[in-house]
Amino acid sequence: MPTTPPPRIAVVGAGPGGLACARILARHGITATVYDRDAGPDARDQGGSLDLHADNGQVALREAGLLEDFFRLARPEGQEMRQLDPSGAVLFHHEPEPDERFKPEIDRRVLRDLLLGSLPPGTVHWRHPLRAVTGPTDGPRRLHFADGTTAEHDLVIGVDGAWSTVRRALCDATPRYTGISFLEAWFHDVTTRHPDVAELVGQGSAAAADGERGLFAQRNGGDHIRVYIIQRAPADWITAAGLDPRDTDRLRTLLLERFSDWSPHMRRLIGDNDGLYVDRPIHALPAGHTWQHSPSATLLGDAAHLMPPLGVGVNLALLDACELALALARHDTVDQAVRAYEDTMLPRSAETSRLLDGAIHDLVSTELPDFAGADAP
Ligand SMILES: Cc1cc2nc3c(=O)[nH]c(=O)nc-3n(C[C@H](O)[C@H](O)[C@H](O)COP(=O)(O)OP(=O)(O)OC[C@H]3O[C@@H](n4cnc5c(N)ncnc54)[C@H](O)[C@@H]3O)c2cc1C
Repeated sequence: MPTTPPPRIAVVGAGPGGLACARILARHGITATVYDRDAGPDARDQGGSLDLHADNGQVALREAGLLEDFFRLARPEGQEMRQLDPSGAVLFHHEPEPDERFKPEIDRRVLRDLLLGSLPPGTVHWRHPLRAVTGPTDGPRRLHFADGTTAEHDLVIGVDGAWSTVRRALCDATPRYTGISFLEAWFHDVTTRHPDVAELVGQGSAAAADGERGLFAQRNGGDHIRVYIIQRAPADWITAAGLDPRDTDRLRTLLLERFSDWSPHMRRLIGDNDGLYVDRPIHALPAGHTWQHSPSATLLGDAAHLMPPLGVGVNLALLDACELALALARHDTVDQAVRAYEDTMLPRSAETSRLLDGAIHDLVSTELPDFAGADAP
């Protein structure tokens, strides 16, 4: 990028996509300022484990110079997969080879720490919730933060997730509810405190469904297991039942009633959890949504193409980040770089969204998924 003076680049969002983008830019001598609303890297639970695929997520980590670190930190045994029925009988079991590297698992927090530690000090500005982006299409753009401060940038890269503020400066698209609700439950110290659950889930993940509801259980690092209780339900099913999401005991009673015809063994995945349930209604952006090209703002990751959580979200965010950063390094102008990136990313995400449109409902279907090519959440 020979432009002089160098463009002032803002990356809004210090999730996996934003941090990977800043890292790859830095490797090519391009400075970016990353803003995030969180108070710091440990401000909130980062969620569960992610599998990074050889043909997208790992491609980005290679460009970031972090692939070998990833393999050192990842859990290849996490590629184990079991499909169960509501009685707990095993319908399908994939046991990975010891050297299988197609999609090893890594905890979100570990991935974030790896990316954060690779950035020049001071790159990430925490406590910067973005409220609005103003300025002309051809730039510069002004970022308005919640505390009243502003910052001017020549290129704003929106990597601020499902409910992106940067997206609002580019288009009217908003995520819609898919009709599928996830409720997250955690099990800690599973080897000693939840041996039955540990045995059921193995070293990777286990899934089961009965047509209306399903369970997806996943081993995480540090002897934790995360379970998603998946239901075809209105987005407000908890409050519609007269409950508060923090009312764990009454919520547990309701869930155990709803899964009353599942075996006691499987119902442990619903009722023996530690701590609160976390409500995660699943939203998606319309397949193929797009925006008018602007040389001063673009989107990547969930901000660009929020899809159902079927194992591709982080991988696509990392691939987008890699392609945009490389385009900025290789093109003469920001405009050319953003155009080249969007020319590849938009058709790819439209095609993937169309493929996945409706597939979230397969998580409660009793049809056995095609495990040869399928991903799990
Ligand atoms: C329940 C669930 C389970 C999932 N499981 C998987 C999985 O197993 N595998 C997988 O590949 N994908 C999974 N996904 C999808 C995955 O989480 C996303 O695709 C991925 O995190 C997208 O990365 P990102 O960097 O684009 O955005 P995010 O990870 O959402 O990061 C966005 C960042 O922007 C910041 N931010 C947001 N708004 C603002 C603002 N206004 N101002 C400043 N900062 C802001 C946030 O603090 C955050 O750090 C799952 C999603 C859900 C809902």
